[in-house]
Amino acid sequence: MAGKALGVLLFALMQVIGVLSFAECPEGSLDEVLVCREGPDCKAPDCRCPSVEAPAKINNIDDVPQFVILSFDDAVTKENYKYYEDLMKLNNHNGCPISMTFFVSHAYTNYSLVHELYRKGQEIAVHSVSHYSDVEDYWRPASYETWVSEIKSMKEILARHASMAPEAIKGFRAPFLEVGGDKMFRALQDLGFEYDCSWSTLHYTNWCGTKPRGAMWPYTLDYPSIQDCQIGRCPEGKYPGLWVAPMVDLQDNRGEPCSMLDTCQSYEDELEEYETAVFSLLKRNFEMNYNNNKAPFGLYSHYSWLLADNSTSRPRRKGYKLFLEWVVQKEDVIVVSMEKVIEWMKNPVPVSKILDCPDTFRSRCLDPLDCTYKNPVPSFLDIDEIIMNTCRRPCPENFPWLENIDGAKPNK
Ligand SMILES: [Zn+2]
Repeated sequence: MAGKALGVLLFALMQVIGVLSFAECPEGSLDEVLVCREGPDCKAPDCRCPSVEAPAKINNIDDVPQFVILSFDDAVTKENYKYYEDLMKLNNHNGCPISMTFFVSHAYTNYSLVHELYRKGQEIAVHSVSHYSDVEDYWRPASYETWVSEIKSMKEILARHASMAPEAIKGFRAPFLEVGGDKMFRALQDLGFEYDCSWSTLHYTNWCGTKPRGAMWPYTLDYPSIQDCQIGRCPEGKYPGLWVAPMVDLQDNRGEPCSMLDTCQSYEDELEEYETAVFSLLKRNFEMNYNNNKAPFGLYSHYSWLLADNSTSRPRRKGYKLFLEWVVQKEDVIVVSMEKVIEWMKNPVPVSKILDCPDTFRSRCLDPLDCTYKNPVPSFLDIDEIIMNTCRRPCPENFPWLENIDGAKPNK
């Protein structure tokens, strides 16, 4: 305990005297490197330059909404759905329920529950079909065709098996945040996606370095990006109208960056032991953002970080919820899905004018089916049996997969 107290004290001291300034964090402002200029060649709603400032239309910082984006990656299952359902009970200050973004991968996903999330106004986005774990041999060298196949097939599987309108699926996150350079961005643009949310930034945060540049707002790729490339390969080309929602790194309790909550660490085990430690990690990061440029504040995680009935994750679940209960009380805070943030970026209005609640639908996934498959994808998944719950009757003959969304042929 004394060690922990000392660790916390040391951290606070280092912050005060500025020792925690990262060597990697550049000096100098964004303006010095920017090629994109707002004006006739780049203006809302279709174009926005990379910027650490709120859209110019909102000139008083008090009118700028502080968006908080919660996202969860990978499969939607019966187990994690209960937790999401609990979070959905929270309301924003404007009286609307909060909405979140789910980057869904295929294996183990329960599509009738995906439909439930969608119907209740949550955003469903793509995270790949295979989610193959071999980053070095699969994702890093992935061709344009591989990206198209992974992204397009997942969108089609969601539309078909979760009974969703395809046009509701707008966003993408690369597995392992392994950004796939121009090939991936070209695939997203050709497939009509609206935004990517895979690209982390350390240089454009409200905390990195002695003079932080400020957290980056979402922008379009009408001009080559100047965002720092932390994971994978970043695009060099232009993709007019395609939005980048930068994953602004958080600062963990050791002063290190973390793009997703799962990788935020502390000197000791306090994040696994005390809900108050989790709460203060989130609150500290939120305040660094809220008291600076109010850029959208993302809390990105995997459900596994909050896993049910596991003693180390209980404090996380509680601390995360405590933070949300605290933050939704603020008048200018809106916890909302990424698609709504992008929508707002195109047509910004003062926070007091944001009255729309998440879109909900009357649609139903009638009589969902559990479909069982033995040895579903021999070359990809080392799984003997998989059960897929679908809204679409009858069960596909084979497990739906890349280029095989209706499961019409066996997977190799
Ligand atoms: Zn993932």
